[in-house]
Amino acid sequence: QPIIRAEHLGKTYRSGKIEVPALQDATFTVDPGEFVSIVGPSGSGKSTLFYLLGGLTRATSGKMIIDGVDFATLNDGERTEMRKSKIGFIFQKFNLLPTLTARQNIEIAYGISGRSEPLDKGHLAHLTDMLGITDRLDHRPSELSGGQQQRVAIARALVTRPAIILADEPTGNLDTASSDAVLEMLQRSNREFKQTVLMITHNPEAASIADRILRMRDGKITGIEAGLGRVVHA
Ligand code: ADP
Ligand code: ADP
Repeated sequence: QPIIRAEHLGKTYRSGKIEVPALQDATFTVDPGEFVSIVGPSGSGKSTLFYLLGGLTRATSGKMIIDGVDFATLNDGERTEMRKSKIGFIFQKFNLLPTLTARQNIEIAYGISGRSEPLDKGHLAHLTDMLGITDRLDHRPSELSGGQQQRVAIARALVTRPAIILADEPTGNLDTASSDAVLEMLQRSNREFKQTVLMITHNPEAASIADRILRMRDGKITGIEAGLGRVVHA
């Protein structure tokens, strides 16, 4: 069965008399292990869809079903649990905690995830090695380049081995070399570890690594097409 199923999903932001239909009637499924890029101009509803996929906001119509569970049937606590157990988030602005070192940022994320087993140090070492940040782990974010900060953010997202990785413009602030490193890691997570990846991007080059591309405009999905599955070598 699909790991993600959106059925006539919609979100309207309301403030007083003003209503913004940010997402309308979105219907699609994503199979486990797929890599899907989400593309569209600014304001087309990509971030809104991302928040709905991550259970960070509630739909105003339709259904968001993750791994067979309809988010609408969960209370806030259950939604948080679902998010922590299944989803890894990567943001354009990294969102690292500035007073903590890279290592502490990753470890605290693992702690918050509520996993019952202790952090697997070997797994962490493997991830930071692949990302080329092992010698940067005792530095604070302000002492790291943007590319290094994003790699820390990726290690933070992957350390829990999430079934689903949601990335919102993960290469938006990065130079080409760092972008490629980020994309390569997402692709390896997808191909070698069968993690399902959904990535919002403005960059057609980045989008082209996906199995499928979901296009959005004016709050609607305007098409879903095959991606190129381009292989990234950083
Ligand atoms: P994208 O990520 O593609 O730029 P968004 O999902 O951020 O698109 O925005 C879709 C529409 O919803 C836009 O018109 C935007 O202004 C509006 N919007 C987004 N967030 C809010 C909010 N919190 N309150 C009101 N309107 C919002
Ligand atoms: P298991 O299910 O037995 O834990 P995994 O397939 O999760 O095995 O992991 C096998 C190895 O790959 C481990 O060393 C683990 O740390 C590493 N690994 C797991 N997920 C990722 C990932 N997304 N990217 C890179 N390495 C990973």
